[in-house]
Amino acid sequence: MAEQRRDAERDAEQVRIRAELVATARRTVADGLVVGTSGNVSARVGDLVLVTPSGLPYDRLTPDHITGVDLTGRQVLGTLVPTSELPMHLAVYRTTDARAVVHTHAVHATAVSTLVPELPLVHYMAAALGGPVRVAPYATYGTDELAGNMLRALAGRSGCLLQNHGTLTYGTTLDQAYDRTAQLEWMCRLWLTASSVPGLTPSLLTEAQLAEVGERLREYGQRR
Ligand code: 13P
Ligand code: ZN
Repeated sequence: MAEQRRDAERDAEQVRIRAELVATARRTVADGLVVGTSGNVSARVGDLVLVTPSGLPYDRLTPDHITGVDLTGRQVLGTLVPTSELPMHLAVYRTTDARAVVHTHAVHATAVSTLVPELPLVHYMAAALGGPVRVAPYATYGTDELAGNMLRALAGRSGCLLQNHGTLTYGTTLDQAYDRTAQLEWMCRLWLTASSVPGLTPSLLTEAQLAEVGERLREYGQRR
């Protein structure tokens, strides 16, 4: 009986997550974070990773198109081919407490990834991603090499840039992972804007100032 209830709860969670994955993928397009079929999103339910299929336009994507793989990458759900970036998504789930991962080709973030090895500390919201956001060295999309570079750049952070490619963030929910991508893209736009004023250089925060914000953010928002 208890087992049946657990199965039913897991099925209901899967239905909810499939719908959230579609909504999140569509949001990345609507908010201009990706163009065409670029980018991908995933969420973990138990030892199952639900993930967007490869190369399917998001306006055609429905919950039934979502694919499922185990933590080794073996496909256990769906008929479409899962995203080509499975190595990155699985690397995050294997090594962190992530429940959701968002990958985009957001334009300002990708521009920054071609200019510096780390996003300069122009804004305190870097603390929401765990500290100064690093750039993972370039490797071909979909490869284990890219996943390895990404994991190293992600150490102690919940997001990183991928050189000449885009962004990757994770969170405990799809909303949180998505919000981190949006904040990261916004900070990259801010740095590009501030650093493109001729003859002037933006002021930057220190690691100590950022650490103080990190503490304070734990208490941020509605706590009642
Ligand atoms: P998929 O369509 O296979 O998810 O790939 C898009 C992408 O962003 C590859 O880096
Ligand atoms: Zn990509």
